[in-house]
Amino acid sequence: MTRAFNFCAGPAALPDEVLLQAQAELLDWQQRGISVMEISHRHAAFETMAAEAEQDLRDLLQVPDDYAVLFMQGGATAQFSLIPMNLLGKEASPLVACVNTGIWSNKATAEAARYAKTHIVADAQGFQNTTIPPMTEWDIPAQASYLQYTPNETIGGLEFHFVPEVESIPLVADMSSTLLSRPIDVSKFALIYAGAQKNIGPAGITLVIVRKDLLDRVMPSTPSVFNYQRIADNGSMLNTPPTFAWYLSGLVFKWLKRQGGLTAMAEINERKATKLYRFIDESDFYHNPIDPDCRSWMNVPFTLKDDTLDARFLQEAEANKLMNLKGHRSVGGMRASIYNAVPEQAVDALITFMKDFEKRCG
Ligand SMILES: *Cc1c(COP(=O)(O)O)cnc(C)c1O
Repeated sequence: MTRAFNFCAGPAALPDEVLLQAQAELLDWQQRGISVMEISHRHAAFETMAAEAEQDLRDLLQVPDDYAVLFMQGGATAQFSLIPMNLLGKEASPLVACVNTGIWSNKATAEAARYAKTHIVADAQGFQNTTIPPMTEWDIPAQASYLQYTPNETIGGLEFHFVPEVESIPLVADMSSTLLSRPIDVSKFALIYAGAQKNIGPAGITLVIVRKDLLDRVMPSTPSVFNYQRIADNGSMLNTPPTFAWYLSGLVFKWLKRQGGLTAMAEINERKATKLYRFIDESDFYHNPIDPDCRSWMNVPFTLKDDTLDARFLQEAEANKLMNLKGHRSVGGMRASIYNAVPEQAVDALITFMKDFEKRCG
């Protein structure tokens, strides 16, 4: 068996160590003679594992005590609707401030518009989503219920390397493809959410980190299983949670701690991204359109000089065990997603392949 280097944007690579541990204990978890998938979520052993996973996540991100951590289902896309449903219940004329920087933030804005008036604070569309409009030009309405943005646009490869200063307006962030890539100051956010399948664990679980004082604003029509307060009160087990995804995410948290935590990951991630962008910039054959100040550490889109070579590039990359480099269908070209679980050797191997391909076809 040979493991390939996997640049998939999501569901994405998981650390070998984690998969091997899951494999080793698949049939016999904690000497119980059964799998973790085959045990009640009400069993003390499962509850202990689940609580440990939450604590490890809290340790990694230094989540303050006045924040609840929820393990939910429905993906980040469900949160596009669940956030307004949970935060706007007390507003007579709700207004959501939105920063549009690409496909995911635009989708989040469209869903928010089903529950509230939306106000576009800044729109990167005018720059083909290649840069973040300067904050000096943002138009933030003082009466906004919250401001939502996407710190890392997974498809476009545009990332905020700063947290917007929004004074007293609650800040809501879709961190699906960047959470755990570096340390963050959770206290600057009202709510952070992330689907697991990029940088956390397998698909099926969604993390929500929400300041507890915001838990009393739910719209009465919100289903109980999507009511943050009720989920928090029930330890994210109001009903059956995705137990295997929770367990596997927990193994990833422990793996991250063994790597030295998020400061260590940030160093590695920055180094991986920097060398790939430097190689692309120095070549006339490959191109990345994003403003160098806003380039994603996690998702690196690039095009070839001649797009008739795309299919051959992808085919040869696969033959070299460099998998899933095809760009998103909406933007074309290539995209290398280099999340935490993608080792630096994968980036080195990709660059070596890209150099060689350019030499032969450039
Ligand atoms: C992948 C992704 C989503 C959608 O996630 P689902 O879990 O498929 O709903 C939303 N936002 C961002 C930033 C993403 O990367």
